[in-house]
Amino acid sequence: MNNFYFTTTLPYVNAKPHIGHALEFVQADVICRRRKSQGDEVLFNVGTDEHGLKMFQKAEELGLPIQEFVNKNAQTFIDFFEAFAINYTNFYRTSAPTHTAVAQGMRNRCSEAGDIYKKSYSGLYCVGCESFKTSKDLISIDTPNWTGWEKIEIAKNMPHMEILSDTEWLTMTQWFWSKRIQVCPDHLTEPVVFEQENYFFRLSKYKEQLTNYYTSTEALLPSNKLNELLNFLEQMEDISISRTKESLPRWVPVPDDDTQVMYVWFDALSNYIWAAGFPDDMDKVEKFWPGVQIFGPDNLRFQCAIRQGMLASAWFPLTKTFLMHGMILGPDGNKMSKTLGNVISPMDQLEKYGAEAVRFYLIAGIPTFGDAAYKEDDLINLRNSHLANAFGNLLSRVITLANKKELSIQSGLVSDKATKKIYATKKHVTHLYNTYELYDAVWNIHDLALRANKYLDEHKPRDKEADPLDVLQTLTDLWAVLRTLIELYTPVIPKHCATAKTMLETQEKWILFQKID
Ligand SMILES: [Zn+2]
Repeated sequence: MNNFYFTTTLPYVNAKPHIGHALEFVQADVICRRRKSQGDEVLFNVGTDEHGLKMFQKAEELGLPIQEFVNKNAQTFIDFFEAFAINYTNFYRTSAPTHTAVAQGMRNRCSEAGDIYKKSYSGLYCVGCESFKTSKDLISIDTPNWTGWEKIEIAKNMPHMEILSDTEWLTMTQWFWSKRIQVCPDHLTEPVVFEQENYFFRLSKYKEQLTNYYTSTEALLPSNKLNELLNFLEQMEDISISRTKESLPRWVPVPDDDTQVMYVWFDALSNYIWAAGFPDDMDKVEKFWPGVQIFGPDNLRFQCAIRQGMLASAWFPLTKTFLMHGMILGPDGNKMSKTLGNVISPMDQLEKYGAEAVRFYLIAGIPTFGDAAYKEDDLINLRNSHLANAFGNLLSRVITLANKKELSIQSGLVSDKATKKIYATKKHVTHLYNTYELYDAVWNIHDLALRANKYLDEHKPRDKEADPLDVLQTLTDLWAVLRTLIELYTPVIPKHCATAKTMLETQEKWILFQKID
């Protein structure tokens, strides 16, 4: 038996769970369920990040006390986990009273390593990202809400205005009434200037150690993201890890300095090790740490660089495996945004198709490590072809036939040929699950279901003149295949598989997957 620690990232609770969260949590849940079924002891950590400026701003906007606001929104995540059958073992909230000791404990260890110092700092800060930006991080856009007086001055001195063509005139006017500003590429808002004396973490000290770690291991999946990470590591500088207390009174205080509070990342990133037992149960840490971390594309540098620097400084082993899932795009292939009106809500999808249809689509329809558009037609097609037509139909055919021939399908011996095929599929799919290739895993399971249906077609056990022993053999082999399909599909669609198992045991027929038109 292995000990398996797995953690998702902690989403901010300034909004309801979106489809990207659904992808991350469902992938995580599938991995952890599979590990449990293999006999591993699993620690599956989820949680919510309830600090940060965004939460304050949103609460203020709604006129709610901050704790009431975060409680309410944390609850939407708890309901979401319940609805999608996310079978976690820990739910971490950064507003929990225990969190202070955790964050401070982590900081003290970094401080003992000589990695924390004080320095005055001024920088551009994006509230949306909760991080400082350099001009390299920003993009230029035109904003039309500007009177353009400076440009009038320029234009006054420009000759030949009267000979411009229509398009030139249009471009000219657009330019005239717009102002180029530098904004955060993710939030399209201008960063604010932040000036403070803060504590800094000596992240640059770990540049080499981290670079060696990623280049000498296969810790980061998918491996095609390695270059992006190495580039970041190469430019990595020390980071500010505190703010003045008056600006953010609710945050975790810096030990021995009551004028400062811990900066959101340094504080929230300590949750992962807490979930493994730190600081109260170091035996548990020993047992479970390090583990596997899943996160989305915008979290690469925080999870793989900043957090690992903290771990290295605090003398903890680095995270063993990093899984970076892709981004789910709108049905039109563009990034989802309210302005484009292409946002898919996981709860709406759940109401429309049921939780397990959505779970199945997120695994079988979205590549495990890549960006993809969310298409409801694909969801319907995949559910119909994989689950209703292949898996469900096989189950139904086998039970019907067994009942018609008055046979108990669990009584025979599985043939060598079937045993070999089942064993090979099981071994391969287990390998895929254990290397986090979830998409490939379910497509291989589907392949077994297709072959089994074909096998049944070829053996024609329905024929009147079919040899009863032959029929029994076919049914017994397919019974073994069905048991395997159920076992392998269980991490993805647990409820349907539980029903399928009962059907197979009692030889009673229900419609397992109603086809969606
Ligand atoms: Zn931003």
